Amino acid sequence: MKSKQYDLVIVGGGPAGLASAIFAARNGHRAVVLERLNSPGKKLLATGGGHCNLTNTLPLEDFARNFGKQWRFTMPAFQDFSPQALRDFFSNLGVKTESPDGFHVFPVSNKASDVLNAMFSECKKNGVEILSGNPVKQLIAENGKIKGVVTDMGEIKADKVIIACGGRSYPALGSDGSGYRLAKFAGHQIIEPVPALVELHCSEKWPGACAGIALKNIRIGVHPPKRTAEFSKGDFLFTHSGISGPAALNISGTVSELLRQNGSAEIFVDFFPEKSASVWMNDFDLWQRKDGKKQVLKIISEHLPRRLAEIFCSESGCENTEASRLSRESREKLSSMLSSCRLKIKGTAGFDKAMVTRGGVSLREINPQTMESRIVKGLYFAGEIIDIDGPCGGFNLQWAFSSGHLAGK
Ligand SMILES: Cc1cc2nc3c(=O)[nH]c(=O)nc-3n(C[C@H](O)[C@H](O)[C@H](O)COP(=O)(O)OP(=O)(O)OC[C@H]3O[C@@H](n4cnc5c(N)ncnc54)[C@H](O)[C@@H]3O)c2cc1C
Repeated sequence: MKSKQYDLVIVGGGPAGLASAIFAARNGHRAVVLERLNSPGKKLLATGGGHCNLTNTLPLEDFARNFGKQWRFTMPAFQDFSPQALRDFFSNLGVKTESPDGFHVFPVSNKASDVLNAMFSECKKNGVEILSGNPVKQLIAENGKIKGVVTDMGEIKADKVIIACGGRSYPALGSDGSGYRLAKFAGHQIIEPVPALVELHCSEKWPGACAGIALKNIRIGVHPPKRTAEFSKGDFLFTHSGISGPAALNISGTVSELLRQNGSAEIFVDFFPEKSASVWMNDFDLWQRKDGKKQVLKIISEHLPRRLAEIFCSESGCENTEASRLSRESREKLSSMLSSCRLKIKGTAGFDKAMVTRGGVSLREINPQTMESRIVKGLYFAGEIIDIDGPCGGFNLQWAFSSGHLAGK
C-alpha cells in the first residue's frame, strides 16, 4: 500500500474506536479505523454473555464515582455523552434499549451483535473506512506533533490519531497490550497494568469443594481494610479454584494490585452483611436455650446452602455438635466465618480471563476535556487503554463510548 492521507486514523476497532470514528465522521472528518483482528468489535460481541450490558441507570455523578479515585477524570466525557445519550444514540440507530431490573441496560433484542452491526452501518453511512487485519506497529511523530502511523502495509498519514487499542485483558478478543507500546513511544507513562474483573484463586482448598454455589448480597473487602472503596457487595459464586461473581470481580483489581506489590493478598467475605459477629454470638445463645437438642449443622443449613454449612461447621469443629454443647471456641470461629470469613488469595485467572485491565496510560498526560495527549499534539486516547476501569454493570462500555465520543469530536 502506498502512503495514504486521512484527517484521522483510529487505532483499534472496539467500541471506543468505532464510536470515535462515527462522531469524527459526523463532524466531516475523513476517518479510517485500523483493526488488528480480521474483524472489529470481537470483544463487544462477547460482552454481557453476548447480551451486551451497555450502561446502567445511575445518575451521572453516582455513575462516575464508581470509577473510584479516578472518577473526576471521567466526568467531562460522561457529561458530554451520558448513559441516556448513549441509549438515545442507539435508539436513533434502531437499537432500542431496556433495563429489565431497573439498573442494567441491554438492547431489547438482547443481542450484542445488533449493537455492533448498528455501529458498522453508521460507520458506512458516514464514510468511515475500516481496514481489518491491519495492526498498527508504530506512530509517526515530528516536533511534538502526530503525523500518522506505520502498518505492515505501509505508512498512513494523518494529523490526528486516536489510540483505542483496549488494555491487555482477553487478548484472544484483540487487546494484546500493543497500544501501551505505541503510547510509550509517544512519551506517555504507563501505569503498570493488572487484571481486573477477574476470578480470584484461593490458597484454601475448601472453596473449591463449594464450586457452583451462588449467593446473593455478599460483602467482600481486602484485609486489613484500607478505604471504604475497597469493599464490594453483590452476587457471589464459588468456583473450582476460588471465587467469582460481581462481588468478587469488583474487588479483584485492588486484589491484583496487592498481589503485584506483595505476592499475596487477603480478603474477608461477609456472608450476612446485615448481621455482625456479635449478633451471631447472641443468636447462638438463643439456640442453646431454645433449640439445644438441634444439631448446629441443621441450624446453620437453614441460613446457608447445606454444603457450605457442612464446611463451616467442620472448619469450626462442630460438625456433629448439638446447639447446647457448642463450645465458646467453636462459636467464635463460626461467627467469624459467617461474618468475616478470611481467604488468602494466591492469584487470579490472569489477563487471559480478565474482563478489563486496571492501569494503562497515565491520566496526568491526557486532557480530560478532549482526550488529547498533553505530550504529542493531535494524538488522542479513548477507552480501556487509559488508566480507568469500572466495576461490573455497564460502566466500562459506557466509558469506552463516552471517551470515544469526546476524542472523536
Ligand atoms: C467477556 C467480557 C465481557 C464483558 N462484558 C461487559 C459488559 O457487559 N458491560 C461492560 O460495560 N463491559 C464489559 N466488558 C468490558 C468491555 O468489553 C471493555 O471495557 C470494552 O470493550 C473496552 O473497549 P475498547 O474499545 O477500549 O477496547 P476493546 O474492546 O478491547 O477494543 C480494542 C480493539 O483494538 C484492537 N487493537 C489492539 N491493538 C491494536 C493495534 N496495535 N493495531 C490495530 N488494532 C489494535 C483490538 O483488536 C480490539 O478490537 C466485558 C469484557 C469481556 C472480556
